[in-house]
Amino acid sequence: MKTYDYIITGGGAAGCVLANRLSADASVKVLLIEAGGADRHPLFHMPAGFAKMTKGIASWGWSTVPQKHMKNRVLAYTQAKVIGGGTSINAQIYTRGAAADYDEWERDEGATGWSYARVLPYFKRAENNQRYANEFHAYGGPLGVSNPISPLPICEAFFQAGQELGIPFNPDFNGARQDGLGYYQLTQLNARRSSTATAYLNPVRHRPNLTVMLQTMATRIVVEGARAVGVEVVSQGNRNSSVLRAEREVAVTSGTFASPKLLMQSGIGPADHLRQVGVPVVCDRPGVGANLQDHLDLFAIAECTGDHTYDKYNKLHHAAWAGIQYLLLKKGPVASSLFETGGFWYSDREKGVRSPDIQFHLGLGSGIEAGVAKMEHSGVTLNSACLRPRSRGSVRLASSDPAAAPLIDPNYWADPEDLRCSLAGLRLAREILRQPALKRFVKSEVLPGDRLRSDAELFDYGCANAKTDYHPVGTCRIGPATDPMSVVTPDLKLIGLAGLRVADASVMPRVPSANTMAPTIMVAEKAADHILGRI
Ligand SMILES: Cc1cc2nc3c(=O)[nH]c(=O)nc-3n(C[C@H](O)[C@H](O)[C@H](O)COP(=O)(O)OP(=O)(O)OC[C@H]3O[C@@H](n4cnc5c(N)ncnc54)[C@H](O)[C@@H]3O)c2cc1C
Repeated sequence: MKTYDYIITGGGAAGCVLANRLSADASVKVLLIEAGGADRHPLFHMPAGFAKMTKGIASWGWSTVPQKHMKNRVLAYTQAKVIGGGTSINAQIYTRGAAADYDEWERDEGATGWSYARVLPYFKRAENNQRYANEFHAYGGPLGVSNPISPLPICEAFFQAGQELGIPFNPDFNGARQDGLGYYQLTQLNARRSSTATAYLNPVRHRPNLTVMLQTMATRIVVEGARAVGVEVVSQGNRNSSVLRAEREVAVTSGTFASPKLLMQSGIGPADHLRQVGVPVVCDRPGVGANLQDHLDLFAIAECTGDHTYDKYNKLHHAAWAGIQYLLLKKGPVASSLFETGGFWYSDREKGVRSPDIQFHLGLGSGIEAGVAKMEHSGVTLNSACLRPRSRGSVRLASSDPAAAPLIDPNYWADPEDLRCSLAGLRLAREILRQPALKRFVKSEVLPGDRLRSDAELFDYGCANAKTDYHPVGTCRIGPATDPMSVVTPDLKLIGLAGLRVADASVMPRVPSANTMAPTIMVAEKAADHILGRI
């Protein structure tokens, strides 16, 4: 039987970070298992390749269960199945959230050691920032972080429109303040995507003590007594499973849906559910698969007064020119992630919330993501998401068969406050698009469309059109060992079993008020220090 010191199940945002940090010690043998394949296709590396990424490439093909509070709508839910995971297919937006997010993890959720002051050094350790070097940022780390290369004039008008509404320009959402509109920093370096595969894994792939198995799915964690001792895997093209042994630890990094799925397939989870689906109970942890949170997104789309966005590159001659521009100059539309500007604001200023509860993403075109309408002429999309949802959902097994898709239930809008916040965000997005500064660029709103105004009409629109921002977290949450709903202790050890940790987005007790890639990379950086006994 093949034996390693550490086995990492999932080569996504977190898994590639761990593979790098753990294998830095030449005396330990590390195995990284990834169900998806290599990231050879050029679309993974061109920033604008994102336009194809929610439409089926390198995805598990999952969707939610019917959403009870959204007229039973089923939402498509892209999740990456490729080395680098979400960081190989995402929109490259680099945001961390508010300092208060992490302070609340520690204060309210029992995640001792995860306050902002304690996690900031891990954000900085990851970073190779091309613009900032200050109290909040660093350069020299593995992950490329850059400002947009070829911004369009409509972006500047978007910032002015915000100012006309009293929303200031913010040069750095990850700095002293989060509120305002501005350019996002992006996980790009030299006009190419910087995924954890390219930034963390590729530079160390030659290490003799690191093995990477692609197209190999972990189907079960093997437990002996009260200790995880290995992983059962199935490789593509091979009908038989095999067991690989971990002398020190198994680190589960399969993502917010697949990590609890793998644990539950292994008998680690809520005993009553495991019995229902016929999985023998190894460790009763009711919190596994619970506490699912996500950012639900409502968008407004407007038609432009001319070719002011990247929609014009749908025409062949424009696309050809864009390709040449990118190859020769590393500039132009192909160097754009298509979502390069946005910002953070308040659903209700009167409420005096501690930091913005709405996030905007300006899409430089229409139909960029799966399920979002495409305009006949050039369009522009303004997404809005409610950042601190109160609704909690779950991930459950559909059956004991590891090949079956998980039952994903974000339970959107279960809490009426989330609906209020979503509709307020949509109203703000529409208002921004109507400001005088955007008049040169924006002709008229197409969706939801001027006719729809009342809460009831916008609720109907939301039920039919809302999409996820792909920020699921929380299904293996950090918490005190005494809380039955905690899954891992603050050092990310699974409660009730030795030799097992979870170290990805699933451990976040609450979703940060931002996109979740940078926070996940931070979690993995810190996890490495826990595993190596440095903290
Ligand atoms: C379409 C999309 C757009 C996004 N845009 C942004 C953005 O612009 N900015 C941002 O900050 N965040 C964004 N995100 C979110 C961000 O990418 C995720 O928060 C992050 O990738 C989560 O990291 P993870 O390691 O927990 O999971 P993932 O990155 O999903 O990695 C999990 C990996 O495990 C593998 N895996 C699963 N099950 C198994 C198994 N049984 N055996 C072996 N391997 C397995 C998967 O194939 C995958 O590669 C986006 C996500 C998506 C999907």
